[in-house]
Amino acid sequence: MKVIVTGILGQDGANMVEFLLKNTDAKIFGMIRRTSNPNFVNCQSFIHNERFKLVYGDLSDSISLDNLVRDIQPDYFINFAAQSFVGCSWEIPLQTFDANATGVARCLEAIRRFQPKCRFYSAGSSEEFGDVQYSPQDILHPVRPRSPYGASKAAARHLVKVYRESYNLYAVHGILFNHEGTKRGEEFVTRKISKGVARIYNAIKYNEFFNPIELGNLDSKRDWSDSEDFVDGVWKMLNQKEPKDYVLSSNETHSIREFVEKAFATANIQGFWHGNGVSEEFSVSTEYAIKNNIRSSVLVKVNPKFYRPAEVDLLLGDSKPAREELGWDPKISFDNLVSRMVNYDIDNF
Ligand code: GDP
Repeated sequence: MKVIVTGILGQDGANMVEFLLKNTDAKIFGMIRRTSNPNFVNCQSFIHNERFKLVYGDLSDSISLDNLVRDIQPDYFINFAAQSFVGCSWEIPLQTFDANATGVARCLEAIRRFQPKCRFYSAGSSEEFGDVQYSPQDILHPVRPRSPYGASKAAARHLVKVYRESYNLYAVHGILFNHEGTKRGEEFVTRKISKGVARIYNAIKYNEFFNPIELGNLDSKRDWSDSEDFVDGVWKMLNQKEPKDYVLSSNETHSIREFVEKAFATANIQGFWHGNGVSEEFSVSTEYAIKNNIRSSVLVKVNPKFYRPAEVDLLLGDSKPAREELGWDPKISFDNLVSRMVNYDIDNF
């Protein structure tokens, strides 16, 4: 069995490769773009594995995709490569659309032309639901994106459906709610918080001054899971009798504020919220500061720089069909996810 996985330098691609090495005997071709300084930090566990091979390709270069599919003749093509950060999609809308939507069309074309038996996974997102009309959001929820990123993923979803129906390809588009973990990039709010907590934890330990973590909208709510649970769901989606799109989610929603509280509690740092709007802060109490000899008291403050031009206020998924029909059984709870990330960042500070 041969599998092409894209996006292997990122969280999901790397977790997918680890999952496949552990649970299958597949030969894995990890596609990377040619860049002058690639960061292999997420690939340490498999980069030298004899069942893993690095190959060059680029979602913006159809020739590279055609060549890979024609030469490798993969059984599966799992596409996690993307411009994955919502916040920056307003700055680079065209690159976001080219990688996330047109790039998917290029993959589908390569498969259609050179290996139509290959099963294709497209990484969809709850951002496609945008300003939601009802909760929890299931696969039938209308597509109402609020960012260039959300719009690009929605376009990819339509392309997958069109290619599936027009050419009888096994192509699926998983609607994945937020998923995090110890391989998450620092631009995402969860990892920004867990790394910030680790930094402050160390400053307190060595009695040093620290700057607060600066965040944007504290009120938005997300349905967070662990990416390691999700790659298992993705593999299940790829191995059904008939191709069908599914939602993967934890079926719980939590605010950014709640993530902050749990993250500091994991590090045994007690804080409290005070102030409103841009003046809101999360600080240690005077008592706690004196007792622990802390030299600065503000742990988190708001910086409007991190507000978005348009916000998705609430995401809450309904993954019942994936659990019932695929037998998908996620293991890592919200509390576990927060403590895993914070403890990892403290240990590796
Ligand atoms: P997203 O759901 O894919 O956009 O994942 P993010 O982790 O980037 O953002 C989740 C939510 O956190 C969004 O509603 C952001 O507006 C909010 N948020 C608040 N402060 C920050 C911040 O400093 N960075 C990021 N990335 N998001 C923030």
